[in-house]
Amino acid sequence: MIKDNLHTLLTNLPETVQLVAVSKTKPVSFIEEAYTCGQRVFGENKVQELVEKHEVLSKDIDWHFIGHLQSNKVKYIAPFVSLIHGVDSFKLLKEINKQALRNKRVIDVLLQFHIANEVHKFGFQLDQAHEILSQSDFLALKNIRITGVMGMATFTDNENQVRDEFKNLHAIFNTLKNSCFKSALTFKTISMGMSGDYQIAIEEGSTMVRIGSSIFGKR
Ligand SMILES: *Cc1c(COP(=O)(O)O)cnc(C)c1O
Repeated sequence: MIKDNLHTLLTNLPETVQLVAVSKTKPVSFIEEAYTCGQRVFGENKVQELVEKHEVLSKDIDWHFIGHLQSNKVKYIAPFVSLIHGVDSFKLLKEINKQALRNKRVIDVLLQFHIANEVHKFGFQLDQAHEILSQSDFLALKNIRITGVMGMATFTDNENQVRDEFKNLHAIFNTLKNSCFKSALTFKTISMGMSGDYQIAIEEGSTMVRIGSSIFGKR
């Protein structure tokens, strides 16, 4: 099942798009099955669940944190996490930097932008991000590396709306790429697209999709 889903998905993804297999709420055995098929990048949205799964599973897995991260929990994932998707405050950037330093690492992060027409979705507006990125406080953070942007579209059947929101995130990425990250070759990720909307996201320039239920089944 998982094997077939993964295979179908991978044959339909362009080579330029990385797949994050979102394993939240699913048992370790499901992750092992995907691992056996060659999948190495997994996404989780709860700190404790991520820590527990990291402990028991193969150490060559790239774990992505895709949820809303509280500053006081960064320390639990800082030793091993490979990418934190949903960073949406300067406070959180500072804490990730602090914990990364403590672990003698540089942690890659994506800035989350609020692109959906829904009040409960987290994320920066472009001007807020610009303000933070130009501060000397930010430039002093040497143990984080911002490798791109992340966003979630509105949960709706209206494809045009979803497409416009993804277009907006791509435009935000381009703006940052051409200003704050002009000389940073590592600023290259646009994390957008889930099971229900990843095809649209890819058409609009996604380089990283986060897919759960299409691989592991309904939650
Ligand atoms: C759960 C989740 C996903 C995956 O959702 P599916 O619809 O199961 O593919 C992607 N991104 C984030 C941030 C999530 O929380």
